Amino acid sequence: MVKVIYYTYYMRVKIFSARNGHKEMTIITNNEDETMREGEKLGRALAPGAVVALFGDLGAGKTAFTRGLAAGLGIDVRVCSPTFTIVNEYPGEIPLFHFDMYRLESESELFDIGWDDYLERGGVCAVEWSEKVSGAFLSDTIIVNFENLGGDTRRLTVTKSGSSSMDRSEKGGV
Ligand code: ADP
Ligand code: MG
Repeated sequence: MVKVIYYTYYMRVKIFSARNGHKEMTIITNNEDETMREGEKLGRALAPGAVVALFGDLGAGKTAFTRGLAAGLGIDVRVCSPTFTIVNEYPGEIPLFHFDMYRLESESELFDIGWDDYLERGGVCAVEWSEKVSGAFLSDTIIVNFENLGGDTRRLTVTKSGSSSMDRSEKGGV
């Protein structure tokens, strides 16, 4: 019995639910590598133009996940947080545009950085601190919410509402 509880707690737990066409999945990770691997799985499935909105506090794992996204897209460069530059661009067959909205004062500043152009450029947009710009996302945005459950445990909740962001493969993992 104890073994079962232990197993359930420490195993990665995945719960699917389909509500109103939304697909939601919860994943528990126990270290940074596991979070990266989840990002990588998603990155392998993403289609050009996909937007991944990352929500969660400082240190929750958003950059680690984005590092994985880059790997999944075949981008072989270490991704760093773009806190001071707002956006970092990583070229590739499908480029990655990595945003960190932490220092954005208002959603209107998005126009200054050319958000609409980024959406049209056939890359994947990964957006840290999406809380700051939640009005800017279209309905088929993939949402990943990160919660720090203490220690090295993180809960990732992935919500997808459409399939257009995911047409690169059916084996997208998350
Ligand atoms: P954020 O971008 O959300 O501010 P980072 O990915 O930059 O967060 O940092 C996450 C920090 O938490 C790193 O120092 C990492 O080593 C640590 N960490 C501990 N456990 C995990 C985990 N399960 N997933 C991701 N990061 C973790
Ligand atoms: Mg970060």
